[in-house]
Parts: sequence; C-alpha cells; structure tokens
Amino acid sequence: MPDTLLSRFLRYVRIDTTSAADMPTSPSTPGQWVLLRMLESEARALGAAEVVLDEHGYVLATIPATTSKPDVPMVAFLAHVDTTPEFCGQNVMPIVHRKWNGRPIVLPDDHSQVLDPARFPELARAKGQDVITASGRTLLGGDDKAGVAIIMSLAAHLLAHPEIKHGPIRVCFTPDEEVASGVDLLDLDLLGANVAYTLDGDNPGEVVWETFSADQAIVTIEGVSTHPGDAKKSGMVNALHLAARLLVALPRENLAPESTDGREGFIHPWRMDGSVERAVIKFLLRDHDLASLQDKGQRLQRLCQALQAVEPRARIHCEIARQYRNMGYWLKKDMTPVNLACEAVRAVGLEPASPPTRGGTDGSRLTEMGLPTPNLFAGYHNPHGPLEWAVLQEMQRSLQMCIELVQLWEQKGVGYKGRPRKKRRRTAA
Ligand SMILES: [Zn+2]
Repeated sequence: MPDTLLSRFLRYVRIDTTSAADMPTSPSTPGQWVLLRMLESEARALGAAEVVLDEHGYVLATIPATTSKPDVPMVAFLAHVDTTPEFCGQNVMPIVHRKWNGRPIVLPDDHSQVLDPARFPELARAKGQDVITASGRTLLGGDDKAGVAIIMSLAAHLLAHPEIKHGPIRVCFTPDEEVASGVDLLDLDLLGANVAYTLDGDNPGEVVWETFSADQAIVTIEGVSTHPGDAKKSGMVNALHLAARLLVALPRENLAPESTDGREGFIHPWRMDGSVERAVIKFLLRDHDLASLQDKGQRLQRLCQALQAVEPRARIHCEIARQYRNMGYWLKKDMTPVNLACEAVRAVGLEPASPPTRGGTDGSRLTEMGLPTPNLFAGYHNPHGPLEWAVLQEMQRSLQMCIELVQLWEQKGVGYKGRPRKKRRRTAA
C-alpha cells in the first residue's frame, strides 16, 4: 500500500521524541535521532536531492525546481520532530476515530480523560471527520508531527508530479523546538532558502506573522544567613522573605498571564529557588510591542530597587536577557510571504486568520536571523497533554495549501528578495 499522509503521521507519532531542557547535546534526546534518521531515509527513497542529516540533528532535502523561470525564490518548509517534556510522549498509541460521530471521546487507557466537544468548540467542528487522539496516558504529538507528515507528503506529491510548476523547495526537519533551542544551530547558508514557513499552527486557515517579543529576567536576592537562635543580634536577612515581598509587590491585574489576553503582555514568575542566604526568581517578560516589553523590564527593575532601598543589607540584582523578537517587525517590511500564504489558504476554501500568537515560534528566531518565516496551520489541537487531537481532513487541507503556495511563489514571487542566498556547498544526494 502506498504511503499516505495518515500512515506517515501514525508512524511518526509512535516514536518517542520527547525533548529535554538544559542538555548539552543537539538533539537533546536520543529518541529524536530515531525519527530524524527515518525522515532522512524516507526523503532519499522519495527521490529528493541533497538529502543530509547533519551533526546537530537537522534533516535537509531539496525538491528541485520544475519551472524554467529564473529567480523564483527558494522556499523552505520546516517542522520540528520533538514533543514537549511537559507530558509523557512514550509509547504513544494513536487512535483514528473515523467519521467521528460527535459524541464525547473517552480515552481507553484513562477514562477520566474525555474529549468533550462541549468543552472544545474546534473539536465540535470536526464532527463527521477523522479525528486522531492518543489513548489517555500520553500526548499525541501532533505538535508537530502533523507538520512533519504534511511536509514529507508535500515532498512526495511534488516529486511525483513534475507537471506542477514550482521553484526550488527546501524541506527541513528540526529538533528541540519545545525546549527553545530549536533553530539555534541551523546553518541558514546550508538551508539556502530566501523565505520559509513553519507548519506548526493549529486552527485551519491560520497564517501567523506576529509573535511575542520575549525577554527573561532573573532576580537574585542575597540575604545574610546566621543561626536562627541568634538571628536578632547577628543581623539575619532572610532572602525568602524578600523574594515573597517582591512577588506580592508585583501587580497581577492586567500584568499576569492569568489576567491577560490578545495583545496584552505579561510579567510571569515561573520558577523560584531559595534559602535564607540566597533566593533566585525567574520571570518571563512578554509583549507584542517592543517598547511595552522594555517597560515591563523597567517596572520589575524599579520594584527590585525599591526592595533594595528598604533592606540595604541585602544585595538584589535583576538581570534581563533577550530571548526572541516579534517576527512582525521584519515581515511588515515586505508582506509577500504572508500575502501569498493567505492566498493559498483561500485557494483551498478557507478564510485566512492572523491572530497575534501569545508565544514564539522557531520562525520568530529565523525571521530575526534574516529568514522571513511565518507559521501555517498543521491541523493539530490542544497540544502538550493527553487531550491533544488532530483532524486528518485539516492536515490534508494544510497539504493542499502548501501545494498551492509553491505554485503561487512560482507565479507571483519572482524577484522577491527575502534572505539573500549564498552559494551553497553541494552535498551528496
Ligand atoms: Zn510545535
């Protein structure tokens, strides 16, 4: 039986590719190599050119141009192979609910896990379609193996249909997106694309070109540790009390993730470790607008200064580090990649939507690094937990959209600059 979008997806989700934070290797976990090697050999078997799996765990492959037009931009499609460490991704048992009848889906391995369409309107819309879930103990891994399966199916389709006119296409599978290091080691000259898309969005029709801008703040509070029996005389300064005061002083209304939405940013303390002598609090600072992001950093610094003023014996330090930036800053300068994607969405009968993402994507980093990379829908929903699902027909729509998109680039994209291409070193096919 020939390989299909569904058979690819079911094969990929069964492989445990859970990533791990703070690991010195890329990929962070050995399971990712298993899938990456599988993708490498599948790309070769399809007849893709220049197939490589590099030392950091990036699979790259080329679908040669079928157009005779010169200067059609090289378009890359990217998806990440890892799944989040936040939930079990081992022994995933995907279940296909063919022509789903619309009734709540009780997952067989844990009956307390119920996918109820009353709770998830996007699920309710999938009635009559083929819904894919996990079995209750694991996530599904549609994030982002839906994207991986769509891109591999795109490669298969284009290689089997040379009559479809398109420019050069690059395919790229990446590790470790979920632990934020996703594209750090990707060689953009080797990728060689002028423009790229990640297939890592959920709702059908989504063309995301705005993400958060993100910084991290680390507040370190050095107290004075003494014997508690003697603390009054010896001048104990308890860093834990100061850490608690800092958190209490932080306004939560309209400034915490729990109380913000849409385009509102936030200050989010997400980790605290400490003792009398020393406490460390880590914060995420997020905003779509760069000035408002900087404002949030200054606000936190002022709170630290105020705390320092009431307790001069402590040493309080607030360090802010840049994480990623809203891709909209760069994409706004030339909206061609977004406009063509929206046109491709319409061509498959959907209405394009571009909600600003309350997070970042690999595309945020890539765009900042000079490769414009909006994010497109891949047909998975509610990721990072047992109640994740994917809809086969939405994944098929996404595949159709990609087929339209490469043709639109051939018809309308000539002359688009994007990231300039350097001469790539040739790699063995
Ligand atoms: Zn993802």
